[in-house]
Amino acid sequence: MIVIGEMVRRAREIIAMIIFAVFSSAAALTPPYWNRGGGASCSHCLSWRLAAETNNVEPWRTVPAHCCSCVGAYITGGQYQHDLRFVVEQILSYADEIPVAGDGLDAWILDVDDTCISNVDYYKSKRYGCEPYDPAAFRSWAMEGECPAIQSVAELFAKLIEGGFKVFLVTGRDEENLGQVTSENLHREGFVGYERLILRSAAEKGRSAVEFKTEVRRRLVEQGYRIWGNVGDQWSDLRGAFVGNRTFKLPNPMYFVP
Ligand SMILES: [Mg+2]
Repeated sequence: MIVIGEMVRRAREIIAMIIFAVFSSAAALTPPYWNRGGGASCSHCLSWRLAAETNNVEPWRTVPAHCCSCVGAYITGGQYQHDLRFVVEQILSYADEIPVAGDGLDAWILDVDDTCISNVDYYKSKRYGCEPYDPAAFRSWAMEGECPAIQSVAELFAKLIEGGFKVFLVTGRDEENLGQVTSENLHREGFVGYERLILRSAAEKGRSAVEFKTEVRRRLVEQGYRIWGNVGDQWSDLRGAFVGNRTFKLPNPMYFVP
């Protein structure tokens, strides 16, 4: 009886070891998104990304070389879209509480690139920010007018308009060359009913994004608009003067606009 009991105990141990081995293998085959494609742990790159998003590492030209696959995995693995949607939910909670006056002067400002419409398809060819900014290539991409909407922001946009806000789309894209195509691109992607699309005029070339956008906001405030919220993927969208009652930074670890 003692021998049989010992055999049963050994058999249980072996079964437990097999189950453990199977689950360990499965876990190893499906690493969390931050390690997918990243080889070694991406924990340092997660720190970099947090610091970049919180504006603690400016200015940066490219994603650090050792973070290329981690950032690529972040953008394509679902977490980027999750983060965008999370911020949009915060914006909607705030917007719901705003007492809209009904005088047509309650305003929101939304940036365009990687706020309303996405350049992720383009940045795929630039390894999601691992290659430096290439103005000619980006211009060619923008000229195609094929940037898809960022879905969560498109929904935000529609709700702001439905809520009685005047929405201003403000972009550093140059008006002369990209005005028409940008307007058509936005329209095709559902951005219809905004108050004004404001692009960088020839006279404003050479100004920093912060200076250009501050000047745009200053003019709106002088016209009587109350800027309740300001949404962008770059800190240069949200810094300077007349930034609005609240600012919301969307994630973008692919590039930095000074
Ligand atoms: Mg942008």
